Amino acid sequence: MRLGVHISIAGSIDLSVDRALEKNCNTFQIFTRNPRGWSHKNLSVDEIKRFKEKVVESNISPIFSHMPYLPNLASPKEDVYSNSKRVLKIELSRCRSLEIPYLVTHLGSHLGRGKIFGFNRVISAINEALREVDSNTVLLLENTAGSKNSMGTNFDDIAHLLNEIKENDRVGVCFDTCHAYAAGYDLKTNSAIERTLQIFDKEIGLERIKVIHLNDSKRGLSSKMDRHEHIGMGMIGKSGFNAILSNSMIRRLPLILETPIDSRRDDLGNLKVVRSLAGSSG
Ligand SMILES: [Zn+2]
Ligand SMILES: [Zn+2]
Repeated sequence: MRLGVHISIAGSIDLSVDRALEKNCNTFQIFTRNPRGWSHKNLSVDEIKRFKEKVVESNISPIFSHMPYLPNLASPKEDVYSNSKRVLKIELSRCRSLEIPYLVTHLGSHLGRGKIFGFNRVISAINEALREVDSNTVLLLENTAGSKNSMGTNFDDIAHLLNEIKENDRVGVCFDTCHAYAAGYDLKTNSAIERTLQIFDKEIGLERIKVIHLNDSKRGLSSKMDRHEHIGMGMIGKSGFNAILSNSMIRRLPLILETPIDSRRDDLGNLKVVRSLAGSSG
């Protein structure tokens, strides 16, 4: 099983590899910069070199980068939209320098202008970024929980986006279990998971999924709320994750936890629970 968590790059980006090893992860996700601002610091040649060397030595693979929080690829505001495209291009080229094979992006919000408007924005932003930045990094579109005006909630919406991307082999999907459940795709039992994956396969194709964001959900099925919970403590629950982790298709994919850290549990605690649920599911 490929299992990891989101890891901090505090201090220097190569330290993320040490932190992942300490947690016994064989895959992990990072932000390549502070995720809460528009600006970034350039990576030094040394830092990039150390990162790549450590990755090779560690045998950890694959590594995922996640886009920062502020970009909105569907934004109707021109300044936000052009900054978002700029950040996407920068992140694609940072991933190229770091030899990170996958970059996860959210699909943004049309802020009330409607889905058709949102589609056009996202499609032209991604086409432009892929045209301008030559990189082997595959851009992964993440399914969303379905809060008001957000893009990429229904599988057929993601399918539409993928179909409109010109360089089709440079895009794939990041499947978040919390988001899918909140969007109304049930994952609580074996048969529910099979049904959800069948829908995904029909609309998009299961081969497009390159990573699972493994998160429980604080809120219920179809709640449209993006609230991550510790594995087994949320509405998907222990038996739900037992079923998810017994699914052979899901088990073959890298699993990344984006669970909370609080007094109830930390990353190590969630990793342990996943390993034990995966083990007991045979
Ligand atoms: Zn996620
Ligand atoms: Zn989320």
